[in-house]
Amino acid sequence: MQLSIAIDMDETIADPIKKAREWYYRDYGKTFTPEELHGKTFTEAVPPEHKDKIKEYLNTPGFFRDLDVFPDAKEVLKELNQKYKLYIVSAAMEFPDSLRDKYDWLQEHFPFLTWKQFCLCGDKSIVQTDIMIDDLIRNFTFFKGKAYLYHGHHNVHIEGYERILNWEDAAKKLL
Ligand SMILES: [Mg+2]
Repeated sequence: MQLSIAIDMDETIADPIKKAREWYYRDYGKTFTPEELHGKTFTEAVPPEHKDKIKEYLNTPGFFRDLDVFPDAKEVLKELNQKYKLYIVSAAMEFPDSLRDKYDWLQEHFPFLTWKQFCLCGDKSIVQTDIMIDDLIRNFTFFKGKAYLYHGHHNVHIEGYERILNWEDAAKKLL
């Protein structure tokens, strides 16, 4: 039987934080060192009075359309798609304007996937795949399958989950 796998988008295959940091630099002239982001989300790293600004970026139509793809994600997902029933699962409803952008982005970079494999949703507690890859442990709360935490600067201090460091590492563990 083919196992099923749910793969997150933001900070797992897509890089919204790189873009948010660029926009933040454009607006405030400040960059962040790896030390400043260590153990924090980007929103946690900016001064409290700028937190709404980050939300505003993410709610800007088009923001999610031209994000960078994480290295090796295209190649590895293509192979995972042969071996598993693969679904892209994103809690995209948090940013309603992102829905069309995310759909178009997926079609552009992962043309071997079909629309039936795109799950742009709200709460991920509905996910019942055998395997799940996500950078946020809150998405594993009700998950009964095998969870892999996708490594990111914001989750470095979290323990108790098997990690995937990058897509090359995912290939070693899952292919
Ligand atoms: Mg994510």
